[in-house]
Amino acid sequence: MTTAQALEKLKSYEQADFALGHAEGLMFYDGATVAPKGSAEVRAATLAELSRMSYELTTSPETVEMLETLKADSASLDPVTARKVELLYRDYDRTNKIPKDEYIAYSRLMSQSDAVWHEAKEKSDFAMFEPYLQQMFDTNKRIALYIEPGKHPYDTLLDGYERGLTRASCDSFFTSLRQKLVPLIRKVCENAHRVDDAPLQRIFPVEKQRAFSEYVMDLIGIDKNHCILGETEHPFTTDFSKYDVRITTHYHEDMVASSLYSVIHEGGHALYELHTGDELQFSVLGGGASMAMHESQSRFYENIIGRSRGFCGLIFPWLKREFAPLLDDVDDDRFYRMINKSTPSLIRTEADELTYCLHVMIRYELEKRLFEGELRAKDLPGEWNRMYKEYLGVDVPDDRHGVLQDSHWADGNIGYFPSYAIGSAYGAQYKREMQKEFDFDAAVAQGDIKRISDWLEQKIWRHGRMMDPGDLFASVCGKFDPECYVGYLTDKYSEVYSL
Ligand code: ZN
Repeated sequence: MTTAQALEKLKSYEQADFALGHAEGLMFYDGATVAPKGSAEVRAATLAELSRMSYELTTSPETVEMLETLKADSASLDPVTARKVELLYRDYDRTNKIPKDEYIAYSRLMSQSDAVWHEAKEKSDFAMFEPYLQQMFDTNKRIALYIEPGKHPYDTLLDGYERGLTRASCDSFFTSLRQKLVPLIRKVCENAHRVDDAPLQRIFPVEKQRAFSEYVMDLIGIDKNHCILGETEHPFTTDFSKYDVRITTHYHEDMVASSLYSVIHEGGHALYELHTGDELQFSVLGGGASMAMHESQSRFYENIIGRSRGFCGLIFPWLKREFAPLLDDVDDDRFYRMINKSTPSLIRTEADELTYCLHVMIRYELEKRLFEGELRAKDLPGEWNRMYKEYLGVDVPDDRHGVLQDSHWADGNIGYFPSYAIGSAYGAQYKREMQKEFDFDAAVAQGDIKRISDWLEQKIWRHGRMMDPGDLFASVCGKFDPECYVGYLTDKYSEVYSL
C-alpha cells in the first residue's frame, strides 16, 4: 500500500467508523429516552452486532496495513492526519489485544446489566443486580489484563479514561483534598443554621421549569440549531459530531435547582463538543480530549460560573418574575446563599460543590479495593453505607439512595469517577488563568458568558483530541495544582457561611 492509497483508505475507514458510532450512539439515546421498556433485549442484540462490526473494522488486516503505512511515513503527514494515525493505532492496539468473543460478549453484558440496574434501582433491590455487577468487574479486570498483562488492571482502566492517571496519582490528589476539605466541611456543618434554603423546596411547576431551561441554555450560549434538550431519569450528554449534540435533564417539582444545574452541567459538555474544530469532525479527533477534560468544562459551567454570585444575580430576576409569588420573600443575597448551601448528603449528582469530591472519593476507594481483591460485589452495599457514615456522616436508608444510585458501574464505566474530581479541580485553575486576562466575576455579572466561552474555545475546545489531556491542560494552566481548588473552595465557603 502506498501512502496515497493509505490516505484514501483512511477516508473510507473514517466514514464507516463514524457511521457505526453514530448508530450505536443513537440506539443508546433512544433506549434512554423514548424506547419502550420491553425493547431492551432486541436493542442489546443489535448493539452486540454493531460492536462486532466495529471490532472487525478496527482490527482488519487492511486497517492495520493502512495504519502501518501511514505511521512509517508520518513525517510527510499534516499534523491533523498524523494525530489521527497516532490515536487510531492506539485504539487498534488496545482492541486487538481483546479476544473478539470477549469484546462482543462485553457489549451484550453492558446492555443487560444496564437494564437490570434500572429495575434494581427502582425496586431498591441490590441482590438482583449483584451478579451482573460482579461480572462487570470481572470482565473489566480480564480486559485490562489482556491490554496490559504486566500492569495493575485498575491502573489500565484509569489510564483508559485519563491517559497517565494511576492509583498513585489519584491517592495523592484525594489525600490532599481530604486533609484540607474535611475540616472545612466540619466548620460549615457547625454553622449550617446560617443558610436556610427552604424556599428552593417549594413546588415549582415543571412546565415553567422547562421554559427556564430554554432561557438558561440561551444565557450560556448554546446553539439550539445543533443541540437539543431531552428528559431522562439520569441527565447525560451525547453527541454525534459538533452538528448534533443531545443533552438531557430531569425535573423535580420540589427541587428547582436540580434541573437548573443539570442543564448547566450538561450544557458545559455540549459547549465543548459544539466548538471542536471543523477540520476534526467525523474523525477520532472530533470529541473532547478526555473524560476529566470534559468534566472540567461541565463542572466549570455548573459551579464556577453557575453558582457564582454574578450568575445567581443574572437568573434570579427571571425566576422571581416567572414563578411569582414563590420567591417573593427571597432577596439576591439569600438566593446566592441558598444555591450554595452545603450539607453532607446521599446523592452525588445533587451534592453541593464543597462535599461533592467526598462522594467521588468513596467510589474511587471502593473500585480500588475491588480490584485489589479486598472486596466482592456482594460487599459493596455494606461498605458503601459504612463509608458514607465515615466520610459524610450520613445514614444510607436503602440501596436506591446508596450503592445503586449511579449508572456508571452498570454501564461498565469503571475507573471513570476520579475524572469528576480532577475535572472539578482543573476549573479553579482555568479561573485563575482567565483572571490574568480579564475580570472573570465582572464578565459573569454582566452576562458576558461569551467572553469566557471564547477563552475556553481558543485554549481548549477547538483542539478536540489533538493533544493528550495532560499536555492540553499544561498548555493552558501549567502544572496541575490541587491547592488552587482547595483555596477557591475555602474562600467561597468562608464567605457564604461567614466563617
Ligand atoms: Zn458530566
